This record gives sequence, structure tokens and C-alpha cells, in this order.
Amino acid sequence: MSQPVCSKCYNKNSIYFRPYSGEYLCKSCFIFSIEEKTSRTISKFSMMRYGDRIAVGVSGGKDSLSLLSIMKKITERKNIKDLVAITIDEGISGYREESLTLVKDFCAKLNIKNEIFGYKDLFGMNMDNAISSRPSEKMTSCSICGTFRRRAIDIAAQNLGMNVIATGHNLDDQLQSFLINIVSGDVNRIGWIYPEPIQYGFHHLKKIKPFIEIYEREIVFYALQQNIPFQSEQCPYMNESIRSDMRNFFNSLEEQRPGIKYNTYKSLLKISKMLNSSNDSLSNKCSTCGHESTNGICSVCKNLMILRSD
Ligand code: SF4
Ligand code: ZN
Repeated sequence: MSQPVCSKCYNKNSIYFRPYSGEYLCKSCFIFSIEEKTSRTISKFSMMRYGDRIAVGVSGGKDSLSLLSIMKKITERKNIKDLVAITIDEGISGYREESLTLVKDFCAKLNIKNEIFGYKDLFGMNMDNAISSRPSEKMTSCSICGTFRRRAIDIAAQNLGMNVIATGHNLDDQLQSFLINIVSGDVNRIGWIYPEPIQYGFHHLKKIKPFIEIYEREIVFYALQQNIPFQSEQCPYMNESIRSDMRNFFNSLEEQRPGIKYNTYKSLLKISKMLNSSNDSLSNKCSTCGHESTNGICSVCKNLMILRSD
């Protein structure tokens, strides 16, 4: 049986059904829809302007490699000259090596500079060391790693003279974070999800998430259609039981009621906007490392003190 014809061009057979809109899309209309949506999201939330210097955080997963490929097209159209790919090497043996090669080859193909920054050089320990030094599993691998990664990307962007950090977070990621923040009582963090970037820190960096309005499954499909090779192996320290639960929860809701994720995202936008304007800014200096912090000692230094205490 042949596929229904594309609902956009009425010309080619469709290869993708978008349940929440009822559209059937051919390959080129699907690809165009993702690139167009990314571009519109950037404009809608004033994520970029002429003269910006863009660093894309590229891990080797489907989101970040797809983002890099689309950002290359967008920056060329906008005549933005500075685009670099930053890769953070957490130092997880047997896992990170494959993605480092993947990213290096993909960047060479796109003619984009790839700069690698490692935890070991920045913090004196990699994730393998951190896991063996932590006092208990209550200090979860992803919370240590997430704190280090945020700082590592900031340092990387500053060192390279970039002022915008683009990451591949998609709509599903943000919904999961939203619910995790609610169930763990971290209500202020919901404000951080709001997509319009605010400059932070002493170097006036901006973080942007151009995929924030796109479903995860559509990014996977985009990467496959564009033959973007991505790492699918999971990190051995993956400790995301709540996040996986949230992912399953939203996926099963979406299956029964297509569009429910997008509706929830729209509520998230309103709530995060209200909280965003009342959030504390990182205006203090950490007394240990000198980086910006909401408290006297930043979370990176707190973690390092605990991990080095034996
Ligand atoms: Fe780091 Fe957790 Fe991601 Fe592994 S899964 S790279 S530990 S944040
Ligand atoms: Zn510090």
C-alpha cells in the first residue's frame, strides 16, 4: 500500500506522520519543517543577533550533531562568521572515545572548528576519578557531572571568545526537567528553562536552546534522514531513573492524546517566564575559584572539596 501524499507539497509520498498536527510529510518537507522551526524559535526568543560568536555544545548525540548542522546553515544565512563546536570530555573510559571521533569527523565534514575541554585539565579529576572518590551514591554521577559540565562549557566559551552557547535540549528534555523540578521542590529552577536568554556571569554569556519547541522523536528522525552519524550507546554512569520515568510518562500520555506535550510546554513557558523575572542572578563571586555563584562557595568547588576530602 502506498503512503499518503505529503500534506505540504501535495506532490511526493509521505515518509512521516505527525500525529499532533495530523500531517503526512515527505522527506524534504519534513527536513524543511525542522530547520524552519529551529529558525523561528531563534527569532521568537531573540536568541541570536548579528555579531554574536556562537559556541555549540556538541556531545556526539543526535540532538547536538543535528543542531550543529542546522546552526551552520542558519549562521551562514545570517552572515554570522564565528561558529565553533565545543566538546566536553568527562573522562569516562570506554564511552567518550567513540563520540570524540564522531564529533571530530562530523566537524571536519562541515568545516567547523572542534575544541575539546576535559574535566581532568579543568578540575584535576575526570568522572572515573570522581565516581571512585565520592563518599556515597547519594552524590549522584549525573549531578556531579552536570555541575562540572556547565562550568566547563562556560570556561570553554570564555577561552574561545564566544558569547553564545547553544545546546541541543529539546522539548521533551525541558518537560522532564520541569516535572523533576516540581517533584523535587526546586521551583526557582523552572525559571531557568525560559528560552529567551539572559546574559549571565562576569563574561556576559548567553545560553540558547534552539530545539526547545521540537519533539525528541522528530530530532532522531531528522538525524536519520540526514544520515548524521550519532552515538547511541549510553553512558555507563547514567543515573536518571526519575528522568526516564518522566520520559515514559510523557510518551505514554502523548500516545493517547497527541499534542499533550506541546500543550504542557506552553504552560511551562508561562510559568517559567514568571519565575524567570524573579530569579536570583549569579552576581556573587565564589570565594574559592572566583567564578560567579549564587552562594559564597560555588557548587563546583563544593563538589571538589567533598571529592578530594579522603
Ligand atoms: Fe555525565 Fe550523567 Fe551524562 Fe554520564 S549520563 S555523561 S554521568 S551527565
Ligand atoms: Zn568556586
